[in-house]
Amino acid sequence: MNTSPTPLPTVHDALARPLRDLRISVTGRSNFRCPYCMPRALFGPDHAFLPRAALLSFEEIFRLAQVFVHLGVNKLRLTGGEPLLRRDLERLVAQLATLTGVELAMTTNGVLLGRKAQALRAAGLTRLTVSLDALDDATFLRMNDAHTPVAEVLAGIEAAQRAGFTGLKINAVIQRGVNEHAVLDLARHFRGTGMTVRFIEYMDVGSSNGWRPADVFSAQDMLALLRQQWVLQPVTGNPHAVAQEYRYADGAGTVGLIAAVTQPFCQHCTRLRLSTDGQLFTCLFAGTGFDVKTLLRADLTDQALAEHLGLLWQQRQDQYSQLRFHAARAQPPKEMSYLGG
Ligand code: SAM
Ligand code: SF4
Repeated sequence: MNTSPTPLPTVHDALARPLRDLRISVTGRSNFRCPYCMPRALFGPDHAFLPRAALLSFEEIFRLAQVFVHLGVNKLRLTGGEPLLRRDLERLVAQLATLTGVELAMTTNGVLLGRKAQALRAAGLTRLTVSLDALDDATFLRMNDAHTPVAEVLAGIEAAQRAGFTGLKINAVIQRGVNEHAVLDLARHFRGTGMTVRFIEYMDVGSSNGWRPADVFSAQDMLALLRQQWVLQPVTGNPHAVAQEYRYADGAGTVGLIAAVTQPFCQHCTRLRLSTDGQLFTCLFAGTGFDVKTLLRADLTDQALAEHLGLLWQQRQDQYSQLRFHAARAQPPKEMSYLGG
């Protein structure tokens, strides 16, 4: 930071939501081609990804993170694309880990954890979420479209545990007609391990996945499936949590449901997203971002930067998920792999 800005009170948006989470996309590239996120037909060998020079540098990301922490952010999540494809990511992790009072998390497809988990842990990463959409290869190969068997992700999870990560979260996107059966498979596999599976409703992010409401397998249906097998008790507590959490009555841990489509949680949304090329998005479904890269590369003090960013949050009114079935989108939405999930 070039100056030490005077602390500002936590900023709230136009709907009284505080700014708490910054999700940082460090690359738009991925080693998977999940059809719900980066369908191969559109993200094929000829796809023009952003050139390296267009990406924010680690120093720029760190400076922004510092300013956001000053504005009230207490959770940073590295994502993408596949974040572990960004070269030397542990260097950024080490920088971000110096920020006090901040939870530093990452969402990954897990394939590269065998090589990276130890270095990430040593650099100060505190929380890890690994995405895994099925436990049988027939389904998983279809869902990653990159010839990656389930065993590679499970090996990545084991490597993370060996490196000292505890309380891992497992994200599974459930699509009707594709992997509903994975709900019970994954729950059975991970209960009693200290890891929490979070089942996510398939969302209409971006415009490349051909999402249709009929493809959504609702959280309510997932819960009904789970309840056929186990007694689950709701966990109450954090009103800002995006996942509805349930505890297995037999003491085998917890499971989460993210009902982003059928029970939107916009009124509790405290998240801001930073794209790989330095655009800030106040909603996963926003069509346009705020160009913070230009501000970063202008000769501004951190205090002035903080004022711009505070104002951006204060003016925020997004609640797309709440309005999904009632209002048309102004602009085509950005892809999840660009915004960071
Ligand atoms: N590559 C990493 C991964 O797969 O975990 C991080 C980026 S990915 C975009 C972040 C999360 O978004 C993943 O858990 C992924 O399953 C989820 N996701 C992607 N597209 C989605 C969609 N259309 N609906 C719901 N979740 C989605
Ligand atoms: Fe890659 Fe993650 Fe998107 Fe799958 S969900 S294509 S792993 S960025």
